[in-house]
Amino acid sequence: MPAITSGKVLVSGANGFIAVWVVRSLLEQGYSVRGTVRSADKGKHLKEVFASYGDKFEVVEVPDITVEGAFDDAVKGVDAIEHTASPFHFKAEDPAELLEPAVKGTVGILESARKHGTSVKRVIITSSVAAVLSVPSSPQVFTEADWNDQAVKEVEEKGREASNAAKYRASKTLAERAAWDFHSKHKAEVAWDVVALNPPMVFGPIIHEVSSPHAQNTSSQTMYDVFTKEGSAVGSGSWVDVRDIALAHVLGLQKEEAGGERIIISAGAFSFQDLLDAAPPSSKHLKGTPGAGKDTVHQIRFNADKSVRLLGLKYHTMAETVADTLEDWEKKGW
Ligand code: NDP
Repeated sequence: MPAITSGKVLVSGANGFIAVWVVRSLLEQGYSVRGTVRSADKGKHLKEVFASYGDKFEVVEVPDITVEGAFDDAVKGVDAIEHTASPFHFKAEDPAELLEPAVKGTVGILESARKHGTSVKRVIITSSVAAVLSVPSSPQVFTEADWNDQAVKEVEEKGREASNAAKYRASKTLAERAAWDFHSKHKAEVAWDVVALNPPMVFGPIIHEVSSPHAQNTSSQTMYDVFTKEGSAVGSGSWVDVRDIALAHVLGLQKEEAGGERIIISAGAFSFQDLLDAAPPSSKHLKGTPGAGKDTVHQIRFNADKSVRLLGLKYHTMAETVADTLEDWEKKGW
């Protein structure tokens, strides 16, 4: 599959936290972008943000990604697809609220690409480490060889009673698996390959439209709570800067050898207290218990070597990400 260094890229869910950075990175590197949004209203802010790119940026409406053929028109004439649209929240009662758009949206965009994407050369799926990890009984380092069948099983067995984390994780596992299965079934008929990017919690400045701090996407809200809500700096995970996962979406097109790969995009494990400790001394936010994160035993870690080897990705440090995010909040008057 040739590397894609120019042309038009379709970005689904273009108004999301990660997607707007993906769009920006693509435009900065000379690509044209067609973004999909659910309603014309959601495209207005995007058009303003990228007005300087003129007709290199266009927005199209895809009101319901679960409808058959929803992306049939959107895929026409594009050289590559970045599929980011998928719900990310921990509030679903019925697991189908997450599973349906995640799986049907993914299979739907691939089916549209198969039928109408005659110029498509690569499809990048924004998956997640949620599709990689399982809750281990002792500390474990996960790689791209791992799949989260545990969450899928929990949702199959417990349905609505499954944990909120399992419902989201199952949606990402099933969606990513569906993408690989689709490609393996249809590879003789299509001229494109698939790449899955698997980030953990994504933090960083916000350039998508958000009305208030309480209307942020899930990962940004988590970081905001840590800095502003007493007692929230409890917990740990892995993280990556939004600009790094966005760049990975561009490098994933440019590096021929990324084709057919799952790639973990992670800057490392952290405790929520580490975020507070990484803030500039001038920060007026909560301080928590400085240093308390240092002894955290991380049950779950990810090996992100492939992202450096295949994509050549260089990660932001936590100090950079935190400083830039706090500055962004200040500019927004939050
Ligand atoms: P956002 O909530 O900011 O963006 C999600 C995007 O998906 C929006 O465009 C949203 O549209 C669209 N979307 C959500 N639900 C549906 C639905 N039912 N039908 C159609 N479109 C929908 O989230 P992020 O930017 O954080 O997430 C983007 C992708 O990255 C997701 O696939 C998520 O799973 C993945 N991811 C995110 C991580 C993170 O920490 N942020 C970590 C790992 C993976 P609308 O605005 O109209 O709701």
